[in-house]
Amino acid sequence: MAVHSKIVIDLTENLANIGEPLMFQGEFALSSDLLPYPQATLTKVEVDFDVTFENPNVFIEGEITCFIEGICDRCLAKVSKQIYLPFEQTFYKDSAADEDAYIYSGSKLDVTKAVCDEIVLSLPLSFLCKEDCKGLCHKCGTDLNKQTCSCDTTPDNAFSVLKNLKF
Ligand SMILES: [Zn+2]
Ligand SMILES: [Zn+2]
Repeated sequence: MAVHSKIVIDLTENLANIGEPLMFQGEFALSSDLLPYPQATLTKVEVDFDVTFENPNVFIEGEITCFIEGICDRCLAKVSKQIYLPFEQTFYKDSAADEDAYIYSGSKLDVTKAVCDEIVLSLPLSFLCKEDCKGLCHKCGTDLNKQTCSCDTTPDNAFSVLKNLKF
Protein backbone atom coordinates (compact mmCIF):
# COMPACT_ATOMS: atom_id res chain seq x y z
CA MET A 1 0.00 0.00 0.00
CA ALA A 2 1.32 3.42 -0.92
CA VAL A 3 2.19 5.57 2.03
CA HIS A 4 2.11 9.34 1.69
CA SER A 5 3.42 12.04 3.90
CA LYS A 6 0.69 14.47 2.92
CA ILE A 7 -2.95 13.82 3.69
CA VAL A 8 -4.94 15.23 0.82
CA ILE A 9 -8.62 14.51 0.34
CA ASP A 10 -10.14 14.71 -3.13
CA LEU A 11 -13.46 16.48 -2.61
CA THR A 12 -14.89 15.88 -6.09
CA GLU A 13 -17.52 13.43 -4.87
CA ASN A 14 -18.27 15.47 -1.77
CA LEU A 15 -18.90 18.60 -3.81
CA ALA A 16 -21.55 16.71 -5.76
CA ASN A 17 -23.18 15.33 -2.60
CA ILE A 18 -23.92 18.19 -0.25
CA GLY A 19 -24.56 17.12 3.31
CA GLU A 20 -23.62 13.51 2.77
CA PRO A 21 -20.77 12.09 4.87
CA LEU A 22 -18.29 10.20 2.68
CA MET A 23 -15.61 7.94 4.04
CA PHE A 24 -11.91 8.76 3.73
CA GLN A 25 -9.34 6.29 5.00
CA GLY A 26 -5.63 5.88 4.55
CA GLU A 27 -2.27 5.42 6.15
CA PHE A 28 0.43 8.03 6.15
CA ALA A 29 4.01 8.66 7.19
CA LEU A 30 4.32 11.71 9.41
CA SER A 31 7.36 13.01 11.26
CA SER A 32 8.37 11.50 14.60
CA ASP A 33 9.08 15.09 15.66
CA LEU A 34 5.35 15.38 16.41
CA LEU A 35 5.79 13.07 19.38
CA PRO A 36 6.45 14.44 22.86
CA TYR A 37 8.40 11.28 23.74
CA PRO A 38 12.19 11.09 23.50
CA GLN A 39 13.55 8.35 21.23
CA ALA A 40 10.11 7.35 20.01
CA THR A 41 9.21 6.63 16.41
CA LEU A 42 5.91 7.41 14.76
CA THR A 43 5.79 4.31 12.58
CA LYS A 44 2.65 5.35 10.74
CA VAL A 45 -0.60 7.21 11.10
CA GLU A 46 -3.98 5.93 10.00
CA VAL A 47 -6.97 8.15 9.50
CA ASP A 48 -10.59 7.10 9.35
CA PHE A 49 -12.76 10.11 8.54
CA ASP A 50 -16.30 10.99 7.58
CA VAL A 51 -16.04 14.00 5.27
CA THR A 52 -19.13 16.12 4.76
CA PHE A 53 -19.45 19.03 2.35
CA GLU A 54 -21.63 21.56 4.18
CA ASN A 55 -21.64 24.09 1.37
CA PRO A 56 -19.37 25.98 1.46
CA ASN A 57 -17.42 24.51 4.38
CA VAL A 58 -16.20 20.97 4.88
CA PHE A 59 -16.71 19.16 8.16
CA ILE A 60 -14.66 16.15 9.15
CA GLU A 61 -15.12 13.83 12.06
CA GLY A 62 -13.45 10.55 12.77
CA GLU A 63 -10.36 9.07 14.27
CA ILE A 64 -6.58 9.29 13.95
CA THR A 65 -4.54 6.25 14.97
CA CYS A 66 -0.89 6.81 15.84
CA PHE A 67 1.39 3.75 15.70
CA ILE A 68 4.25 4.49 18.06
CA GLU A 69 7.39 2.61 19.02
CA GLY A 70 9.13 3.93 22.07
CA ILE A 71 10.40 3.31 25.56
CA CYS A 72 8.19 3.30 28.63
CA ASP A 73 8.84 6.39 30.74
CA ARG A 74 8.77 4.37 33.94
CA CYS A 75 10.25 0.93 33.32
CA LEU A 76 12.26 1.58 30.13
CA ALA A 77 10.67 -1.40 28.36
CA LYS A 78 10.38 -1.21 24.59
CA VAL A 79 6.77 -0.56 23.73
CA SER A 80 4.84 -0.58 20.47
CA LYS A 81 1.40 0.81 20.80
CA GLN A 82 -1.48 2.44 19.02
CA ILE A 83 -3.01 5.61 20.37
CA TYR A 84 -6.44 6.62 19.12
CA LEU A 85 -7.32 10.30 18.88
CA PRO A 86 -10.81 11.52 18.06
CA PHE A 87 -10.80 14.18 15.35
CA GLU A 88 -13.37 16.83 14.57
CA GLN A 89 -12.69 19.88 12.44
CA THR A 90 -14.34 22.35 10.10
CA PHE A 91 -12.41 23.52 7.04
CA TYR A 92 -13.47 26.87 5.64
CA LYS A 93 -13.58 27.72 1.99
CA ASP A 94 -10.77 30.03 0.87
CA SER A 95 -10.34 33.02 3.12
CA ALA A 96 -13.93 33.25 4.31
CA ALA A 97 -12.74 32.68 7.85
CA ASP A 98 -10.24 34.23 10.21
CA GLU A 99 -6.53 33.58 9.97
CA ASP A 100 -6.40 30.77 12.50
CA ALA A 101 -8.98 28.67 10.71
CA TYR A 102 -8.12 25.70 8.53
CA ILE A 103 -9.05 26.43 4.95
CA TYR A 104 -9.37 24.65 1.62
CA SER A 105 -9.79 25.80 -1.93
CA GLY A 106 -10.93 24.06 -5.07
CA SER A 107 -11.57 20.34 -4.86
CA LYS A 108 -8.52 19.35 -2.83
CA LEU A 109 -8.48 19.42 0.95
CA ASP A 110 -5.05 19.13 2.54
CA VAL A 111 -5.63 18.07 6.16
CA THR A 112 -1.96 17.38 6.94
CA LYS A 113 -1.53 20.39 9.21
CA ALA A 114 -4.82 19.84 11.04
CA VAL A 115 -3.91 16.19 11.69
CA CYS A 116 -0.38 17.10 12.84
CA ASP A 117 -1.79 19.77 15.16
CA GLU A 118 -4.24 17.28 16.65
CA ILE A 119 -1.43 14.79 17.30
CA VAL A 120 0.73 17.43 18.98
CA LEU A 121 -2.12 18.73 21.13
CA SER A 122 -3.82 15.50 22.09
CA LEU A 123 -1.20 12.84 22.72
CA PRO A 124 -0.78 12.05 26.41
CA LEU A 125 2.47 13.52 27.71
CA SER A 126 3.72 10.30 29.24
CA PHE A 127 4.43 7.17 27.25
CA LEU A 128 3.74 4.09 29.34
CA CYS A 129 3.77 0.36 28.60
CA LYS A 130 0.51 0.21 30.57
CA GLU A 131 -1.42 2.74 32.58
CA ASP A 132 -0.45 1.22 35.93
CA CYS A 133 3.20 0.50 35.14
CA LYS A 134 5.00 0.27 38.46
CA GLY A 135 8.33 1.33 37.00
CA LEU A 136 11.79 0.52 38.27
CA CYS A 137 12.95 0.70 41.86
CA HIS A 138 15.07 3.82 41.94
CA LYS A 139 17.50 2.29 44.37
CA CYS A 140 18.23 -1.15 42.94
CA GLY A 141 16.69 -0.90 39.48
CA THR A 142 14.38 -3.89 39.86
CA ASP A 143 11.51 -3.90 37.39
CA LEU A 144 8.65 -3.69 39.86
CA ASN A 145 6.20 -5.03 37.27
CA LYS A 146 8.04 -8.36 37.39
CA GLN A 147 9.16 -8.65 41.00
CA THR A 148 9.38 -6.77 44.23
CA CYS A 149 12.54 -5.73 45.97
CA SER A 150 13.33 -5.10 49.58
CA CYS A 151 14.29 -1.46 49.24
CA ASP A 152 12.39 0.88 51.51
CA THR A 153 11.25 3.35 48.91
CA THR A 154 8.38 4.28 46.66
CA PRO A 155 8.75 3.73 42.91
CA ASP A 156 10.16 6.73 41.08
CA ASN A 157 10.62 7.38 37.41
CA ALA A 158 13.22 5.48 35.46
CA PHE A 159 15.52 8.40 34.88
CA SER A 160 16.68 8.54 38.45
CA VAL A 161 17.94 4.98 37.99
CA LEU A 162 20.03 6.08 35.06
CA LYS A 163 21.33 9.01 37.03
CA ASN A 164 22.53 6.73 39.82
CA LEU A 165 24.30 4.25 37.55
CA LYS A 166 28.06 4.48 37.56
CA PHE A 167 29.71 3.98 34.19
ZN1 LIG B 1 6.49 0.43 31.91
ZN1 LIG C 1 14.87 -1.84 45.07
